[in-house]
Amino acid sequence: MKIHEYQAKEIFSRYSIPVTKEIVCYSTDEVCAAAEKLGLPVVVKAQVLAGGRGKAGGVKLARTMDAAREAADQILGMDIKGYTVEKVLVAEGVKFNSEFYVGLTIDRNTKSVILMASAEGGVEIEEVAKDNPEAILKFPIDPDLGMSPFFARKIAFALFSDFSLVKQGADLFQKLYKIFLDTDASLVEINPLVVTDEGKLLALDGKMNFDDNALDRHPDIEALNEPTEDEKKELEAKDSGLTYIRLEGNIGCMVNGAGLAMASMDVIKHYGGNPANFLDIGGSSSPQKVIDAMNLLLSDKNVKVIMINIFGGITRCDDVAHGLVSALDQMKVDIPIVIRLSGTNAEEGLKIISDYNLPTVKSLSEAAQEAIRLVNQVN
Ligand code: GDP
Ligand code: MN
Repeated sequence: MKIHEYQAKEIFSRYSIPVTKEIVCYSTDEVCAAAEKLGLPVVVKAQVLAGGRGKAGGVKLARTMDAAREAADQILGMDIKGYTVEKVLVAEGVKFNSEFYVGLTIDRNTKSVILMASAEGGVEIEEVAKDNPEAILKFPIDPDLGMSPFFARKIAFALFSDFSLVKQGADLFQKLYKIFLDTDASLVEINPLVVTDEGKLLALDGKMNFDDNALDRHPDIEALNEPTEDEKKELEAKDSGLTYIRLEGNIGCMVNGAGLAMASMDVIKHYGGNPANFLDIGGSSSPQKVIDAMNLLLSDKNVKVIMINIFGGITRCDDVAHGLVSALDQMKVDIPIVIRLSGTNAEEGLKIISDYNLPTVKSLSEAAQEAIRLVNQVN
């Protein structure tokens, strides 16, 4: 789960990490009032759950009231990577000498939390990572020792030469690590962390991602969740007992069991097709589940063919077939369906399907190839 910059900075300031004074605004008038209150210049920043806002024109420095108004007009309603800007952050404009990058995440190679830091922070950090990776320093943190004062100073010495900054940096790294552990974060990032004209470290931006599986322990954080349209669908699916993950392809998949669902996607890929989703309708399947699943697949306009792959164990193929037939009676499906049923009550199931004049196939590879053939016919 992701949160907005202003929410991350609220958490930072709870741990007394220095952040800019700032106000969240939902309209141009609110932006003007905020600029009045904070004093010019201000920075108007789009609050969307995507990075690279600066480059997309979503961060603007305003030296006058007119400029603040203009920035608000431009940024509110803007589209950034598919997100519409509904709120902006108005922050006091800060003069700074240098921009650093600091990030904490989990590193699978070292099986530890890792702190990444760079003296080349700012909007170009992705380019630095690509073209000049040695400019990003990496410090795996021993899980038993944690971020000891000694280790924090070692990192700070690698980054700063001024002793006051070393002290501020070491203090900040310890606090960031504590935030990371306390909140079950998967990412905590400050980019840029700036050195102000007064020689103080200040978090100008903030980013946090959280481990979804740990959200139960953090109701206050979970309450900040703003699911995207895709994520809303995934949550709805969960409520109907379905596990659904939307993907980019055009072959809608309905499968029972997570392993078989993964295998079905692999087989589609193997034959050169692209699955539109992962969908596990679960072990024991009622007709209602099949109806819910069909509705879910059909709500994705990219889906050109539906491939149903059922292996009956506890699930009975005739149950699925009944569900499918009653679903088709209730809804208008104008795309082809490929059905493979095998296992418990497969024969009964196949009979129901063919009595309904729907074609069936014998194997998974046949199903995948037929689905791909039908997709190619549509395109
Ligand atoms: P991002 O592009 O989504 O990461 O947004 P940031 O919050 O990092 O802002 C992008 C850039 O805008 C920063 O790297 C800074 O160079 C600049 N910026 C942000 N806030 C201020 C500020 O208060 N004063 C000045 N002068 N520049 C700022
Ligand atoms: Mn940034």
